[in-house]
Amino acid sequence: MQEKKRQLRTHLKGLLPLKCPHCRKGDLFTGMFKMPAYCTYCRVLHEREHGYFTASIYIGYGIYMAIFFPIFVVLMLIDSSIYGWIAFFVAMTFFIPFIFRYSRGIWLYMDEWLNPRANEPKYKAPSNQ
Ligand SMILES: [Zn+2]
Repeated sequence: MQEKKRQLRTHLKGLLPLKCPHCRKGDLFTGMFKMPAYCTYCRVLHEREHGYFTASIYIGYGIYMAIFFPIFVVLMLIDSSIYGWIAFFVAMTFFIPFIFRYSRGIWLYMDEWLNPRANEPKYKAPSNQ
């Protein structure tokens, strides 16, 4: 149990800068939304199976609801003007890249924490022959 807590702490240190959950050195993203199929440092495949990141959609939804539902309720209760609603939707749009990136990162770290990659095959570049 103590070991799992220690692992969780070290995982959180790698999650904040969005580093690879396996080596914590390679970047998870190379662009705003672009995530390479494998780690650029240790070459472990990020997507373990087809549809692997579907669970990250639920994590992103949960993050969105945790952040924006209370704001939505407050705007409803104070009967906000149209400018309040526009600011609300602009803020929701502004957070899309962050929530996308962190929901995938959280999913990868959760999976690595619960089911560590020990001897999984690493990415091999296709040969040119
Ligand atoms: Zn790595």
